[in-house]
Amino acid sequence: MKLVNQQLIKNTNLKQLYNSIYQNPGISRAQLAKDSHLSKTAVSSLVDELIATRFIYDSGTSGSTNVGRKPNSLMLKAEQYYVTVFFLEEQKLNAALVDITGASSFYVQMELLSPDGYAPKCREYVYDTVLQQIQKNQLLGICVVVPAMIDPDKQEIFATTLNLPEKDFVGEIQRTFPDFSVAILNDTACFAYAEKVYTQITEKDFAFINFGKGIGATLFIHNEMLGHACASYTQFGHYSINPKGKLCSCGNRGCLELMIGEDSLKERIARIGNSPALKNTDSITYADLGQSSVYGDVISRKVIHDIAYEFSLALCNLICIVHPKLIIIGGKGRDLGPLFLREIQKCLDTTGFRRMVDSVSVRYSQLDSGALYNGAMKYFFDIHYNFTQDMGGSFFIG
Ligand SMILES: [Zn+2]
Repeated sequence: MKLVNQQLIKNTNLKQLYNSIYQNPGISRAQLAKDSHLSKTAVSSLVDELIATRFIYDSGTSGSTNVGRKPNSLMLKAEQYYVTVFFLEEQKLNAALVDITGASSFYVQMELLSPDGYAPKCREYVYDTVLQQIQKNQLLGICVVVPAMIDPDKQEIFATTLNLPEKDFVGEIQRTFPDFSVAILNDTACFAYAEKVYTQITEKDFAFINFGKGIGATLFIHNEMLGHACASYTQFGHYSINPKGKLCSCGNRGCLELMIGEDSLKERIARIGNSPALKNTDSITYADLGQSSVYGDVISRKVIHDIAYEFSLALCNLICIVHPKLIIIGGKGRDLGPLFLREIQKCLDTTGFRRMVDSVSVRYSQLDSGALYNGAMKYFFDIHYNFTQDMGGSFFIG
């Protein structure tokens, strides 16, 4: 047990130093010791180990103008270690090879004919593309990201917006990469983690709500992601805002994602009346709606108001349960433009427990759709990667 504890502490310390260098490129050993509260000797030996394993390098003396010997500055070594991130969409497999410093990534999208093709295509990408460019030991892990709920107990994936192989897909992924460290993660959790790390969110309690084909939420409580990255604790998109509404594939009626998801827009607009700006569009997206509302289309503005109102009904209940101080709207929700944010804030002023709602701010995500890949890489590295163990064959859900 003692050895296990020592390794655990060592891994935590190595990770802390690595992330400090990430946040302060060019930092000195002395400053690292000060910031980490570790002894100078301990920092020196851990830094030597990170240099020997090529995670970081010593770039020589820094530009400090202090009198005396200038301290050496430490930098992350880019394009040395990578994580492969797969994102599964309906009949599409997106793959990215992401450098763990976040400095570079290589992205491709592949078409798929059937759900049975996901695992073989993932394998093909790793062996025929990734391992042709880098050595096996440079690939720290493989993340398979799904827009779905992953049940860590039953090892099952429940997807309402994606067709996956019916039998034991989780096991199939594990068997596909027996030599690598693999994690299956939820997409909204990856976006949320990227937002937290890369936009430096200071609120300890916040919610990230992802508008895509479905609607998902990830919550951070006291700086920790609630229920890991498997979306099995919160299914915000399946919060019912109308018990007499349409039947959802989850078994419930009037679920938020059914009521205000992108697929609901065409019907909503038809119900209110013809929009001259949108009459020639076959399927209507949030972006279409956002655009026409900017140019003053009355119907679009009304629909955005209605969506914001229904969204605020679910949101004020979420606020009553966990009281996040910040709500971030990501994914395609951003395409609804500034009006949607204003309307949500206005609706929240009239719905819910005022005392709690008043201290909540709402903003859009500051990152683009590529954040999913960097978020998955960073989550895997921060939460699962272990400097002191051979990770081959390890498997994580969330
Ligand atoms: Zn539902």
